[in-house]
Amino acid sequence: MGRAFVYVILGGGVSAGYAALEFVKRGVLNGELCIISDEPVAPYERPALSKGFLLPEAAARLPSFHTCVGANEERLTPKWYKEHGVELVLGTEVKSADVKRKTLLTATGETISYKFLIVATGARALKLEEFGVSGSDAENVCYLRNIADANRLVNAIQSSPGGNAVVIGGGYVGMECAASLVINKINVTMVFPEAHCMARLFTPKIASYYEEYYKSRGVNFVKGTVLSSFDFDSDGKVTAVDLRDGSKLSVDMVVVGIGIRPNTSLFEGQLTLEKGGIKVNGMLQSSNSSVYAIGDVAAFPVKAFAETRRLEHVDSARKSAKHAVSAIMEPDKTGEFDYLPFFYSRVFTLSWQFYGDNIGEVVYYGDLSDSSTFGAYWVSKGHLVGAFLEGGTKEEYEAIAKATRVRPAIEDLTELERQGLGFAVTV
Ligand code: FAD
Ligand code: NDP
Repeated sequence: MGRAFVYVILGGGVSAGYAALEFVKRGVLNGELCIISDEPVAPYERPALSKGFLLPEAAARLPSFHTCVGANEERLTPKWYKEHGVELVLGTEVKSADVKRKTLLTATGETISYKFLIVATGARALKLEEFGVSGSDAENVCYLRNIADANRLVNAIQSSPGGNAVVIGGGYVGMECAASLVINKINVTMVFPEAHCMARLFTPKIASYYEEYYKSRGVNFVKGTVLSSFDFDSDGKVTAVDLRDGSKLSVDMVVVGIGIRPNTSLFEGQLTLEKGGIKVNGMLQSSNSSVYAIGDVAAFPVKAFAETRRLEHVDSARKSAKHAVSAIMEPDKTGEFDYLPFFYSRVFTLSWQFYGDNIGEVVYYGDLSDSSTFGAYWVSKGHLVGAFLEGGTKEEYEAIAKATRVRPAIEDLTELERQGLGFAVTV
């Protein structure tokens, strides 16, 4: 049994949705494009899962957040795919790929062949078992990567009114879920191994602003340690978290956000891998010229840093998707992908954006101890390479994005500090 398509997108997440829209905009013909996803629903804006989806009232539910609403573009419902002749193969895992034969084998035993393949398999959440702790299957231990995880988390929240939660991990999932749990009136303790939250992006000073805010909302922090085991009741529910520092925390539920691994296993030994992802060139094309990779799974050249990077954020998923489709359908008119890394988060009433790279010296502006608007610049080798802003307006965010892209020479750090946000606005 088999079917043949000109274009196949493997994976049905954020980047797949944006790629589909771009294919249709560029005039793909009926029956030429197929998306295969092991999720049971059409592509959706994954960031909603840790934010609107977890609200106690008026929570976001599909179909409201199908791609591409996150970029103020069309909302692609299953009907849209049908109307545009895009084959949506849902709830179907691809078990193996053969890039020489240009075929994929699905769990249902179907062989799907392609002329061009876009790998958009994203990533999977790391499990506690990979750190030697068992108990991930307990019904009140929650991860957060897909709709099924989000539904399980909502059930755990609803089963723990006024209860205690431990959030393991001080990264994006940890910070955003902790805020959502507080909004659901659950008492939260965050546990992570680093000295401060968001260790890979935030400086201690920036982290301290957010930690103080979280504390003011009742969140406890246990830093510099990891969990060693769980205690269970006779039903297999976790009742307490045992930490390596010897302490024990009673819990009604646990949320785990300890990082991800890109889903590359289908292509190991077939495509060149780098930085844990599929290595692609400036056209998002892998070491096999018929195979492209986008989103979390792609390791692509970031021109501004003259370095290959793998980014785990929605903006790069959206933009790499568009660029790959352009490179496939109009290669002669498509230049190299020139992407400025952009990360953001929204928690409680706070909201920050970051552009560029967080290397070199840091220059702060605004009053971090008593202000709702503050920021930082990173200066490396005499140039501005990164910018962070909390509580900015649309225009101010655009200004720091532009300034980071331009990479102006910075001679005097004290003068940059004095000018603060005003510097970006005048670049
Ligand atoms: P995904 O969206 O993960 O899609 C991959 C798809 O491939 C999935 O549907 C998966 O099931 C499918 N798949 C994988 N393997 C197979 C297979 N073998 N067969 C069939 N299907 C397969 N980023 C931000 O910038 N801002 C945010 O606020 C933000 N919030 C987030 C909140 C949460 C809870 C999570 C989990 C992520 C968040 N992100 C955020 C990150 C962002 O969602 C990802 O960078 C983005 O989803 C990557 O898109 P992708 O298409 O590469 O992967
Ligand atoms: P992150 O990589 O952001 O953070 C993982 C955190 O867990 C790090 O602080 C990490 O420390 C810590 N950690 C690692 N191992 C352990 C352990 N054994 N015990 C306790 N803590 C541990 O991953 P997340 O899981 O938070 O997020 C998953 C993905 O979702 C990421 O790709 C992220 O970009 C994306 N996401 C993005 C959002 C956004 O952009 N706003 C929002 C939500 C998710 P260390 O750094 O030392 O490894």
